[in-house]
Parts: sequence; structure tokens; C-alpha cells
Amino acid sequence: MTLSSNDKADVVAPISQDKTEWLYNESNVEGNGSVNAAGITAGDWNGVFNFNISLDDADVSGHVHAYAETITKQPTCTEDGEKTLTCECGDTKTAVIPATGHNYVNGVCGECGAVSPDHTHSYSETVIQEGNCFNGTDQLVKYGCACGDFYSQTSPAEHDYNAETQFCKVCHAANMSVFSEPGLYGYISGSGEAPVFRTPWVDIIEKTEMDVTADGLGLTPTPNRSIYKLQLASLNPYSERLILVLPKSITSIGDYQFSTYSGTGADMRANKLDYVIGEGVTTVGEYAFCPGGSGRGFTRCRDFYFPKLNYVKRGAFDGFGSPVVLPSTVTRIEENAFKYVNRLYYNGSATGSPWGAYNHYTTM
Ligand SMILES: [Zn+2]
Ligand SMILES: [Zn+2]
Ligand SMILES: [Zn+2]
Ligand SMILES: [Zn+2]
Repeated sequence: MTLSSNDKADVVAPISQDKTEWLYNESNVEGNGSVNAAGITAGDWNGVFNFNISLDDADVSGHVHAYAETITKQPTCTEDGEKTLTCECGDTKTAVIPATGHNYVNGVCGECGAVSPDHTHSYSETVIQEGNCFNGTDQLVKYGCACGDFYSQTSPAEHDYNAETQFCKVCHAANMSVFSEPGLYGYISGSGEAPVFRTPWVDIIEKTEMDVTADGLGLTPTPNRSIYKLQLASLNPYSERLILVLPKSITSIGDYQFSTYSGTGADMRANKLDYVIGEGVTTVGEYAFCPGGSGRGFTRCRDFYFPKLNYVKRGAFDGFGSPVVLPSTVTRIEENAFKYVNRLYYNGSATGSPWGAYNHYTTM
């Protein structure tokens, strides 16, 4: 709109742009005083004014909206947001901000934590707590996926068996899946293989009339000791090492049964016994595993597995190879039961310690 002269401040002339055809008397209005036409208010005014009307994208004043955005609602992965557009002329409108969609990394949305429907869990294993077969601590393992899902499992500590001896390196338990039948097992020293020969228990008894439970054999060497009788029972010439597995029915080992008298001659040859296993043994007699007399320190027997052991009599393991691991089922230990033993592991309740051992430990 152009005012030809005497501009008047109160002229308000909104012109709608949606009209494309104008009649003569609409497009040219001349006169004095008040002017009235559709959409035009000029007020009281003296003079002549002309309208030049054209169609334009901009509004009549040439103003182009410049909107400033204000976000009134942030979009999320799954929901649209909204923003308000405001021009300094006062014009406002709202607009939708589209949902962003998930941004999956390793199967999980970094924004909202949603798990991708295509994700397959892949768990990796972390040991939270190491098990300990000596003191009964369970092993605790956590299985975690990169998506954050996890579960944990406890399980009894697994024994760590020496491949050749089949005794646990930690708690000295024997691998009873190997020694499932009583008898005398043999293996070749240094072969690295588990025992491969077995003389059945019934054959040993038939051949030797051995009685491991008998007491009162005394200090003097006697062929009645089991350690000597085992020589007769061990028929396999390739067996360089022997493991005696007692029947579960045997609950006690008599005095001196596996004691040799000296470290020389016949005693040395007799002393081929390396390990003794007795799942039913609760009592070990006096000096039962002690190399007697001047032979102390020559004992060949290096380990035993008596998981129900309760009563260890005087000098029973005097001079025994070390370390010795005792189960906590033991409640009574007599003097010098572990004399000269360097390391004794035991966390049970028997009073007095270390029963002749140089060192006594309650943990491993
Ligand atoms: Zn505007
Ligand atoms: Zn998401
Ligand atoms: Zn997962
Ligand atoms: Zn173990």
C-alpha cells in the first residue's frame, strides 16, 4: 500500500492475499473523508490515497516470517516431540519433532536401554569368587552379556587333581572316580598317567591274609604289618608306585600297620606304598604310618585320603611326608601325631597344636 501524501498514522490496512480478481470499484476508490472497503479501515482522513495491490508471497508490508524455535517437548526413541515457532511479528505455530528411533550399540539402545529384538545374548564368564575345596568355599561365577543382562551361579569348588597321582593339589582329596574299587593300584613313576593296574582287594586278602585293622604289632618289625604284605600282593612288575584303596567297610587302621622299621634293606623294598585311601576310615592307630626306629624320615608314603577321619592316635603320622592336609572331621589328635611334618593344614576343632608338626595352618 502506498499513501500518496499526508501519511496518517492510524491507517490500518490488512490486505488478504487470497483474492485473485478485483472489480473496478473495488480496486479504485476515490473520495474524501471516510473510506470503507472490505478489509480496509482508514479512519477519518482528508486526502487521496491509492491502493496498489499485487499478489506476493510476503505479506503486504514485505515482512518475511523468521521463526525462532522453542522445543516444548523433547522427542524420545519412540515418541514424537513438539516445538513452538514464534516470529517477532507475533505469528506462532507448533510443529512435530519426529521420534528419534533407537540407536543400538551391542544390541542395546544407548539412549533408552531398550534391547534390540534382533539381539541374542552372548555371555562371558567372570569368576567373582574362587572356590576353595579345603575350606568349603563355593565358587561364584557371573555370566554377563554386553547388553547388561547377567546371571550368576555358585558351585562347589572343583578339585584340581594331579594328572598322575589323582590327588587334589589343594585339599589332597583323591579322585574317587578313578579309585572306585578297593585294591592296590599301580602306575609307572614319571609316566604322567593315572594308575593303570589294579590288584583287587579280594585277591590281596586271599594271598596275604592282611588285616589292616589289627593292633598290637609293636615296635619290632613283623611280617604281619600290612606294609610288608603288600609286597606279596603287588604282582605287576611295572608298578613303580602303589596306591592302596581300602574297602569303605574298614573304619580303623591298627597300630604300626604301615610303619617300616628302617630305611634300609627289606624295609626299603617293602616301602613301595605311596598313597592310602580309606573312605570309611575314622581312626588311625599309633605310629600307623611312621617309619619306625632309625628309619624315621624314610617313609615312602606321601599322602592319604581319609575324608571321615576323626581320631588320630599318638605318633600316627610321625615322620610323614609333607604337607599333610587333615579334614575338619578330625576332633581328636594325640601327641606327636605329626612329628617332623613340615606343613600341617587343619582348620578343625581338636585342641592342642601343632601336635609335633613344625608348622600348622588353618587356611591355604
Ligand atoms: Zn512474522
Ligand atoms: Zn532407545
Ligand atoms: Zn544380551
Ligand atoms: Zn580339592
